[in-house]
Amino acid sequence: MRVLLVEDDEMIGDSLRAALRRQGFAADWVRDGRAADAVLASERFDAVLLDLGLPQRSGVEVLAALRGRGDATPVIVLTARDALADKVAALDAGADDYLVKPFELDELLARLRAVGRRAAGRTRTALVVGDLQLDPATREVSRGGRALLLSAREFALLQALLERPGAILSRAQLEDRLYGWGEELESNAISVYVHQLRKKLGEDLIHTVRGVGYYAGPAKGQGAA
Ligand code: CA
Repeated sequence: MRVLLVEDDEMIGDSLRAALRRQGFAADWVRDGRAADAVLASERFDAVLLDLGLPQRSGVEVLAALRGRGDATPVIVLTARDALADKVAALDAGADDYLVKPFELDELLARLRAVGRRAAGRTRTALVVGDLQLDPATREVSRGGRALLLSAREFALLQALLERPGAILSRAQLEDRLYGWGEELESNAISVYVHQLRKKLGEDLIHTVRGVGYYAGPAKGQGAA
């Protein structure tokens, strides 16, 4: 899951981005409302964590502009203010959820999973393709009832593919899902992770479409290998 963090407090921003990356999120961070506008207008995220009190433009203005462009990216507002009026304004401007600081990381992660499910129109928490099951909440993966141990990147890659079984994701799209800005990335990283996943899951689940990308699920025949 690729997450944009919009937060002007250096300590909160730094620790939150580090915590999200440890959990396998591709987490990027901007520190003011104008930068958030620019990034959100040009890049795609799976969710936005948005502080309300920001320099340049407020979180509510950023949110209104995002929705004004017809962009439905899930937004969770993070705010120190517990005034009812601020929560109402944020929700009315198009926020999906809010958290009042200070909050526990576990609660934030659960809310991120929830908005991700709603955005994808899923009611089940686990992703299931055939006899493979991936649970974003418990971070457990199993195939045919047998538990599998995956690294954080392997898990993130598999999750991206399982969220839309049969949909082909390009190498660049997968890199976006796995890596935040400035994170070291070998040019063949995605093929290495796919190779490792196939060794752990079996060869029949993740398919390569030469020159296009990868998909998970039943093989589509022609062009797939
Ligand atoms: Ca702030």
